[in-house]
This record gives sequence, structure tokens and C-alpha cells, in this order.
Amino acid sequence: MEKVDDFYQSVLSFYDNASKHANVSEGIISQIRSCNSVYRMRYPIQSAKGKIKVIEAYRVQHSHHRLPTKGGIRYSNHVNQDEVMALATLMSFKCAIVDVPFGGAKGGVKINPWEHSEYELEKITRRYTVELVKRNMMGPSIDVPAPDYGTGAREMAWIYDTYRAFNEKEIDAAGCVTGKPVSQGGIRGRTEATGRGVFYGIREACTYKDDMEAIGLTQGIKDKTIVIQGLGNVGSFSGTICQDEGGAKIVGVGEVEGAIYDKNGIDIHKLLKYRKKNKTILGYPGATSYDKEKRDIVMEFPCDILIPAALENQIHKKNAKKVKAKIIAEAANGPITSEAEAILNKKGVMILPDVFLNAGGVTVSYFEWLKNLSHIRFGRMDKRFNENTYSAFVDLIERSTGKKIGKQERDFLTKGGDEIDLVRSGLEETMITAYTAIRAIKKRKKNIDLRTAAFVNAIEKIGSDYSTMGIFP
Ligand code: GLU
Repeated sequence: MEKVDDFYQSVLSFYDNASKHANVSEGIISQIRSCNSVYRMRYPIQSAKGKIKVIEAYRVQHSHHRLPTKGGIRYSNHVNQDEVMALATLMSFKCAIVDVPFGGAKGGVKINPWEHSEYELEKITRRYTVELVKRNMMGPSIDVPAPDYGTGAREMAWIYDTYRAFNEKEIDAAGCVTGKPVSQGGIRGRTEATGRGVFYGIREACTYKDDMEAIGLTQGIKDKTIVIQGLGNVGSFSGTICQDEGGAKIVGVGEVEGAIYDKNGIDIHKLLKYRKKNKTILGYPGATSYDKEKRDIVMEFPCDILIPAALENQIHKKNAKKVKAKIIAEAANGPITSEAEAILNKKGVMILPDVFLNAGGVTVSYFEWLKNLSHIRFGRMDKRFNENTYSAFVDLIERSTGKKIGKQERDFLTKGGDEIDLVRSGLEETMITAYTAIRAIKKRKKNIDLRTAAFVNAIEKIGSDYSTMGIFP
């Protein structure tokens, strides 16, 4: 497998290729290419047994064309400066593509989170936050972290609490981090957001009959066969929502312990329960199991849609030829190297690029940040008002037609939007609008792929910000 360090080079090569098609001046192209601030820290923490451990961590702010900057914090043993720079770069493009008014950033802590106790993780997280606060590198208008691989709502609550301790009087302090638990100023629907966005993105791509026919598929997500690599937050929500709401059939799954395949379909809910109980997906009834050494075979399973939902560089020049999927849906960041992409493009595989497809997470983070700044839950002002108005409409229809509408139908027609409904609807709108724009660029420019079109979209939006604001002397 190629080195993880190649990830940043891969991102730059996608960028260089796309920048040729973007209508942006040369100087601004090089400004957008570079990472503005890279902060590396090393700090000690003391374990419960009194042992000192030195932690290596990063925060990279890629672009300040819009503020705050935004991006998750990753806890993984593979974290290094290049990886965080690559991920921060992708965040800037991702935000631009889905019209989330933030610059891109990313954080990384080089630890295996599953090897640390909760006590140690709390210390690592709080100290990381203090390092950022000390240097004025965090805050609702500066840089707003969020969850990523190896972190979740628990870590975000520690970050918020630590930030608040230093900024007692800041009324908007809750907007310093997103992905918080709902009880701590989080928003409903943030945990599922990336996976749900992946679903909306795939569903939208599958609605275009001509695009589907060009790759030998029928229109619509229903009954499409799907293989998922990674059953973490993103992989499991992508799988459950594609199955439950899209009517797709999951036929293969890969995880650290191995891979399983069943052409008749794997119920993703049952599989998640099975894995929780047995601590493995191997041996799942009815499916063929491949052990740890053979787990990479997941990329080669026959299917319509392959969803890599783990880490970067999973499809590389050695296994790209063997991919059988017609669509690769990049739920992870950077799962396909630039060399692999050239091979896949030649094979005619449709790639739904990460900078578009997994942007659901940051989109709902944006909604959470807005909620924090406005200090009010979405739906609080208008839900009942809408319900009363819709009810009056239904009553009027009943009176004028002389027919009674059933309870279920009435409930559906008269429901006002709760926070979760509005978040989902905002996310759906965002993903559809973004895909329409990218597809239109692809059509207009001819002979470019969707990733290039997505990058062109981002470069032109960021470029226009830079050009209109002028460069500070
Ligand atoms: N870590 C997620 C991503 O890669 C979410 C970032 C955010 O919500 O700020 O897009």
C-alpha cells in the first residue's frame, strides 16, 4: 500500500489538475493551494498510574477567506502533519461546495483512542483545548472544531467545558465547537449527519437516468447493491439509511477484523447487533467470511456502489484495477489516491467525491453553530403556528368535500417541523443543490470527472471571495 504521507500529495494533485479548469488568477490559485497556519504541539499528560506520556498533536487552518475556520479533530495513531494538512485543505473545499460560510481546518492527535482510558482521553482532550485557547486559535468566530475519526460527542463536551472555563463571559461560547451532545447545546441529527448526507448524495446521483445508463445501471437507488468498508459512525449511518430509506441492498461489509459477503443481502441493523454482541462481523449467518489477512478483498466484492467509509488511501494503484463497483461513494476523506483515480476513470467508474459526498457532517455542524449563536432551537417559533395553519387547511378541505381524512394522513399533513425535521430537510436541500451545481460544471466543461468539477466549483467560490475582498497590504 502507498504511504499515508502521499495523501497530501494526492490532494494537491487533484487541486493542480482542477485549477487548470478554474477561472481564477494564478496568484490566487497558489494562495488557495497553501495551508495558512500549521500548529504542532507536544504536551505531557499524566496517566492514572502517574506515568508521563508525551502527546503529539496538530491544528491546521488551511484558509481564512471566511471565518471561523472549521473542521474535526482526529484521534488516530496515523496522524501526522501532512495528513492533517491534507484534511484541512479538503475542509475548505467541502465548505465552499455546500455553501457553508467557513474556511477549512483540521486537528489531529497521534494516539490510538481505544488504548487509552476515559480518564486519559479526557486529560488529552482538555489539554489540547487549552493549547489552542492559549494561542487564540479557537472560538466561535476563530476556529470551531468538531468530531472526526476517533472522536465524538463526549470529546466535544469536554472541549466546550474547557473553553467555557476560560471564557466565562462569552455569551456565544457554545459555538466554539460542534458535534456536542444535545444536552450541551448540540443539535438533533448531527450524529447521523455525515451518513445521511452520503445517502442524499448517492440518491441524487442515481436519479439521472442518462448518467446511470452511461455506467450500465438503472435509474434510482432502490435495489442497488452496496458494499461498505468501515462500520464506524459514517459507515453505519450510511448503510442503515441507504437500506431503510433508499431500499438499497447491502451485500458486503469490511472492518478491521475481516470482511463478509452475501449476494442475497445483509440486514445492516442485524449485523450491527451481531458485531456488538460478538465483537466481530466474521461468522455472520448466511455470509461468506474473510479473515483479517484477506480483509482488503472488500474493495473487490461485486456490487453497484462501493462506499469506503474508513480512512484515506484505501483504493490505491494496486487494487484499483480489481474494483468491480460502478459507483464509488467517498464517505471517508481521501479514500482514493490520485494514481488509483486515473485507473478508475479509465474503467469508467463514477466517483462521488469526498468534498461533496461527506459534507453532511460540516453542513449540520453549521446548523448547530447557527443554533448556538441564535440561542434558540430550530422550530421553536414556528412549529405550532404551522400546525394550526395546516390543520385549518385540512378542516377546510374536509368541510368543502364532505370527506373525512384518516388520522395518519391528517397527522402527516398537519405536522409542523421539529428540529430534527428541519435539520434533515436543510441537509437534503444542501446535498441536492451542491450535486446539481457540480454536475452542471461537469457537463459544461466536458471531459472532466465529478471530482474535478467539485474542485473547480470550490476554487471559483473561494477565488471570488479572495478577489472581492482584496488582499490586505
Ligand atoms: N470531521 C467532519 C468532516 O471531515 C466534520 C467537520 C465539522 O463538522 O466541522 O467533514
